[in-house]
Parts: sequence; structure tokens; C-alpha cells
Amino acid sequence: MAVLETEESLLAPLNAMSPEALFAWAKEHHGDRAGIITSFQDTGCVMIDIMSKVAPGMRIITIDTLRLHDETYAFMAEMERRYGPVERFTPDPARLRKMVAQHGEFLFFDSKAKQEYCCSIRKTEPNQRALETLDVWFTGLRRDHSEFRTTTPKATFVDRQGHRVLKIAPLVDWDKAQVDAYIAEHQLPENPLYSQGYTSIGCAICSTPTLPHEDKRAGRWRWFNNLEGDDAKECGIHIGGSGI
Ligand code: SF4
Repeated sequence: MAVLETEESLLAPLNAMSPEALFAWAKEHHGDRAGIITSFQDTGCVMIDIMSKVAPGMRIITIDTLRLHDETYAFMAEMERRYGPVERFTPDPARLRKMVAQHGEFLFFDSKAKQEYCCSIRKTEPNQRALETLDVWFTGLRRDHSEFRTTTPKATFVDRQGHRVLKIAPLVDWDKAQVDAYIAEHQLPENPLYSQGYTSIGCAICSTPTLPHEDKRAGRWRWFNNLEGDDAKECGIHIGGSGI
């Protein structure tokens, strides 16, 4: 495994690379310490398809909150049949039991703080465990996802609880039309929730369909729509400055 001793000097060339070159570079230099963490939304599926052509065998990781839609679980199985095994990181059972015993299964309706607590148990902590296994984290963030993500860099180093990782969003500068065109050209499958009006897919109940004029993440936690703050639609996984 290469050591990330050259860190900052790496960023300029990485930020100029194509998605294909980034995957090939990561596989060559970091092997099994590089991986895609995805919830199998449209950009994630494009990333996986590109990776399968230029860096086959790279790890595909998902955070299973145990509260995803049935359609997402079925779609995940379809992607696994097509691209190979998916590593699932799930909530810590003891922490999950404690949270549900204290606050109930639907605590996220009560307050923003309880929603963030639920996300920390079901998403952020499992994501942290996944990150501990990686030096290079590929993510499907795009700048057109929301106002909060408009400054997201393609490649940057982030610290997560003392673990430093190179975070790469290879399609950060693609827009929805480019993603859709790739999916059509390469005949990729899509989560059927998109055809039901979803533009951002997470947990059942907490993500809902959006209207054409709305921000792509507007369907998240709709009962908090009056909250101030441009990170109100983020779950914590990608909070750490500059939408990364
Ligand atoms: S999106 Fe909702 S159910 Fe999922 S982890 Fe966050 S608060 Fe909990």
C-alpha cells in the first residue's frame, strides 16, 4: 500500500484527471485500500460501470441503514449480480437497540437533533467503519445536487475521527443530463424509485419524491423544510467543509 506522504502535492493532478484515470490510478497505487461507497443512486451506478472497465475488482461498499426501500434492496441485488459482490456496513446492533428503546423507531420526526442522532447511528458510524478500511474513498457527489454541494472539489483529503482519507468525487462536475446520457448509452439499470419521482434516494420515509422545480435533495426530511441552514438536507456523512 502506498503511503499518502505526498498528500497535498497530489491534489492538483488528481483534480485534473478523468474519472477513468482516477479509478486506474487508485487501483494501481492503493489496491484494496481504495473503494466506492455508494447508495446505488444514478451517479453511483455510473461510477461503478466506469470502474468495472478500467479498474475491475475495486471494492464496492454500501451503508445499509436497515431502513431502505424494498426497491433499493432489490436494485442492490441486481447491481451485485451485474458487477460483483457488495460489502454492506450496517448499524452497530447494540447502539441501534439502545436508540430505538430510548426514542422509538421513528425518532427522526421529533426534532432535527433526533434525526441527526438516527443518522449518526444508522449512517455515519457505519460509514466511519467503512472508511477505516480505505485510504481512497470514491463518492457520487455532484455539484448540481444542491446549493450546499456547489463548491465540492473533485479530490481532497478529509479527516474523519482521526482517519485521513483521500476523498474523490470523479463525476463532481457532471450534470444530470450527462449522467442520464451515460446510463442510456451503456444501458445501465436504475433504481425504480426514480420513475416514481424520487431525485435523491435514502431511507424509506425520510426520502420522498420531488417536484420538477425543487432542489434534488428537497425530498429529504420534508417535515424540516422550514429549517435554516444550507446543510439541513445533509445526513452528516459529507459534512466537513466545502460540501465534502
Ligand atoms: S435518513 Fe432517516 S431513518 Fe435514515 S438514518 Fe437518517 S433519520 Fe434515520
